[in-house]
This record gives sequence, structure tokens and C-alpha cells, in this order.
Amino acid sequence: MPLATQAKSNKANATPVVDAKPQSSKGAAPIVTLASLSSHATPFDAYKATWSNFKATCPLKVLVIGAGVGGLTAAIGLTLSGHKVVIYEAVPTIKEAGAGIQVAPNASRILERFGVLEEIKKDAIMMERNSLRGWKEDVEIGWVPLMPSVGEKYNAPLMVVHRADLQRILLARAVALGVRIHTSSPVVACSPNFSASIMLGSGEWISGDIVIAADGIKSFVRAEIARRKGYKDTTVSTGDAAYRVVIDEERMRGDEEALKLLRGDVGSRWMGPGGHIMAYPVRSHKLYNMVLIHPIRPQQIDTESWTSPGSKAEMLKTYAGWNSTVRHLLSYVPDDGEVMEWTLNSHSPLPSWVEGKFVLIGDACHPMLPYVAQGAANAIEDAAVLTVALGLMDSPEKIKDALKAYEVIRKERGEAIQASARETQRILHLPDGKEQEERDRRIRESTEAARREGNGEKRNPDLWADQQWQEFMWGVDVMKDTMERWEDITRR
Ligand SMILES: Cc1cc2nc3c(=O)[nH]c(=O)nc-3n(C[C@H](O)[C@H](O)[C@H](O)COP(=O)(O)OP(=O)(O)OC[C@H]3O[C@@H](n4cnc5c(N)ncnc54)[C@H](O)[C@@H]3O)c2cc1C
Repeated sequence: MPLATQAKSNKANATPVVDAKPQSSKGAAPIVTLASLSSHATPFDAYKATWSNFKATCPLKVLVIGAGVGGLTAAIGLTLSGHKVVIYEAVPTIKEAGAGIQVAPNASRILERFGVLEEIKKDAIMMERNSLRGWKEDVEIGWVPLMPSVGEKYNAPLMVVHRADLQRILLARAVALGVRIHTSSPVVACSPNFSASIMLGSGEWISGDIVIAADGIKSFVRAEIARRKGYKDTTVSTGDAAYRVVIDEERMRGDEEALKLLRGDVGSRWMGPGGHIMAYPVRSHKLYNMVLIHPIRPQQIDTESWTSPGSKAEMLKTYAGWNSTVRHLLSYVPDDGEVMEWTLNSHSPLPSWVEGKFVLIGDACHPMLPYVAQGAANAIEDAAVLTVALGLMDSPEKIKDALKAYEVIRKERGEAIQASARETQRILHLPDGKEQEERDRRIRESTEAARREGNGEKRNPDLWADQQWQEFMWGVDVMKDTMERWEDITRR
């Protein structure tokens, strides 16, 4: 089917998701009820049929670098729409590493369309609310309603999962769809003119129609593009580092207060001078996940790695002055090998995410600080937009158009979310004093207004908790956007 016809026919079949209101009376569409959402049912996606019939007009051979969340999601979306995808991954075994990760509605609606959401939901926690708390006294300053109201509003659930589960499920789906994944295959060179060829560590050159660089925060491809184009690939230290721990249910035995946190559906965000802690249960309430952000120590080695071991003693020292709930929780962390620590860096926005037939996705082009919990979600959005754009082009000569559409849809949005994470860092880490008191007053006011009117009229200074910013992060359906803006973008 020619491009314009397919775009139109896909469009004609589609009912907008963002505007779709839950159906409560007559009509063929399924009914979204509070009960269906809270019992882990997938909310109604009015666009689902469109995507399950979505086939690429011009199937391509796609080379993906990296089998992380972004690379695997891209491989799934592209294979489902008819492209042939091969992944090259540097590590010998794809280990299911990491700790808690949020799957917000902007990601879950895509994962549903790609056929993995049901599996992810099995061990996921649908967070009922997030509690914003003080560091010294563990008192609640405000709270944000999450599920089921967020799921109902955006027609997609908000969950927290263990990253290992998310990656395992994506990997299984990709393999089941026939994606070929080569491990121990680091990409060490890109073709001189950025035509779609890459060289592996073995010296072998591989060619395709397009290369998707999903090679993470330390992206080799990003560095190569910067080097050859003559601009700096700048890493900017945020001054923060993060401990990441998961505490097993067994270790909390006998502590009813801690077990209540593990068994509940409430996330806790303790805000303190120079740092904050985000904590919630994962893996069917069997593990309690904590990310503890604190100022970087003098002479701390900048690892930017997710798997560097940290010291429990050092961590306990850092949080010694925090409230007893936090201290008790940290006392359950096993002594050895269970504390991970990584330094939080940000990267300056890049001039472009595209060079020739190479395109950057995920942390390679927009590494996110964890303050608005959007790193994985934005990598998933990138994968989804590429799926639609590469599906709509009608000849290999139009790859340029597809990549242009990807960049128009994703770059400004991704960078805005990246910037909001940086702004949130400052707000969450205010020292005790006037500005912190004003922040807390505004959080209380915003909580009260949301409880009374439910409309987020009063802005929450914590942008993750702010209903207007949530609308931007969670409410936008990037697949629908790509479809609707395709002709306009590619005509320019
Ligand atoms: C081990 C690990 C643990 C993590 N834990 C958490 C967590 O607990 N919480 C959280 O919020 N986020 C975590 N993240 C980050 C989160 O997954 C990402 O921010 C997000 O999902 C974006 O994913 P991505 O695909 O862009 O990058 P990543 O998920 O980082 O994947 C990049 C992949 O590319 C591979 N790669 C890199 N260079 C090359 C090369 N030259 N050739 C071939 N392959 C290459 C890497 O081995 C990796 O598999 C973790 C990431 C990793 C890698």
C-alpha cells in the first residue's frame, strides 16, 4: 500500500487514545472501571486494533546496537511491523540486572501494543499513591494519587517493576518473534560516512539499511558522531550519586512497620538537604526497592555504571541523621555485594540524534536523571516512534524522512523531560530553611487542591508529582502523534 494511503487508512481506523474518555454507558468499547484497573486489567486502548494491523510498507534490514530496554523494545516493534532485526550486544550474557524502575502510562500503552504488558503486570505493583515525606521526622507533607485514577485518566496503567523482570520479558518476546541477538559482539566502528555499516570487535563488518544505536549512557556511537562532527560529547556531573538497594521480605521479618511498606501499594519519597530517597515494593511485594540520592563524596570515582558496588557502612553514615523508618530499612540491607552505587551525570543536549543512516535512542541520546522516573519510558517511546516512522515510509530512499519524523517527534519532548528531571533535583534537595518551607507549603496546597477538585490547578514543585507535568509526560501518545504528523513533517 502506498505511504500516503496507509497513513490515511491507519488514521481512519484510529480513535484517539489521549482524548478517549472511559466508556461508562452504551457503545461497543470495553468499559473501564475502577475495579478493572485496580485488579491489574489492562485499560482500554482505543488504538490497539490499528497497531496490531500495522505493517511496514517497505520492510528493512535493521541493525540494533545494544539489548537494553530501548534496543529490545525497538526490535519487538520493528519485527511486529515486518522488518528484519538483528541485535549486537557487547556483553557475553544478557544479565537481568538492576532494581526498581517505573513503567508510566506513556510506556505501558506502548508495551501493551507490543504484546508484553500482561506478562509485565504479573509481578508489577500498581502504585496506589506516592507519599512525599520529610527527612527528619518521617511525616507526610503531601501525596499524589496514582492508580487507579492515573490509569483511568490516561488509559494505561502506572506500575513499578524490577528492571530485571522488564528486561527478561522484553528479551523473551524479542526471541519468540525471531529477532537474532548476537552477544559478545561489541560494536567498535561505524562506517566512515555513516552508511548503515558497523564493525564488531572481531573485525567483521555488517551492513543493513539502518543502524539503531541503543548502546546506553556511555554510547560508543554518540561519541563517534561527536568526534567526527567536531563537537564535544559533554558529560556534566550533577554533584549527586545514588545508592540502589533491594531488601528481601525475609530480612524484614518481625518489623511490622517495614513490612507494612513492603506489602502496601504506596511509594515513599523522603526529601532532605542535598538528597532524597525513593522507595517502593517490587516483584509482587517480595522485595523493597530503595534509591538513595546523596551528594557525591570528595574524590569519588565517577563510574556512571549501574553495577558498581557501594559500601553499606558508607551508606549508613550518609543517612545517619535521617528518620528512624529510613534507618531501620537500611539496617536490613545485607552487608556485602547488595549495595550498588553510581554517580549521576547529565549530558548536554546533542545537535542531532541522527547521522546518515545511524539513529540514537534511549540513554545514548537523552540519559535521564531518575528524579521524574522517565529513563526507560523515554527509551520505549523512541522505539515506538521509530516503529511507526519506519513503517510509514514507502521506499528505502525515504529513510531520511522517517528519521526526520523521529527526531521532530522525540527530541524536543525527550529533552524537555530530561530538563524537568534536573529542575526536580534542586527542589527535592533543598536545605532546611525558607525555600524548603515554601516548597512544603506548596506541596500541601497542591495535595489539598487535587484532593478537593482533582484538577491539579495548584502546581506541585515536585514535577514528578505535578498533575500538569504528568499530563505532558504520561498523556502524550507518541505513536498516534507520529501517525498524525507524518505527512506534515515529511512534506517540509
Ligand atoms: C545493568 C543496568 C542496570 C540498570 N538498572 C537500573 C535501575 O535499577 N533503575 C533504573 O531506573 N534504571 C536502570 N538502568 C537504566 C535503564 O534501564 C535505562 O535508563 C533505560 O532503560 C534506557 O535504556 P537503554 O536501552 O537506552 O540503555 P541500557 O538499558 O543501558 O542498554 C544499553 C545496552 O547497550 C549495550 N552496549 C553498550 N555499548 C555497546 C556496544 N559498543 N556494542 C554493543 N552493545 C553495547 C549495553 O551492554 C547494554 O546492554 C539500568 C541499566 C543497566 C544497563
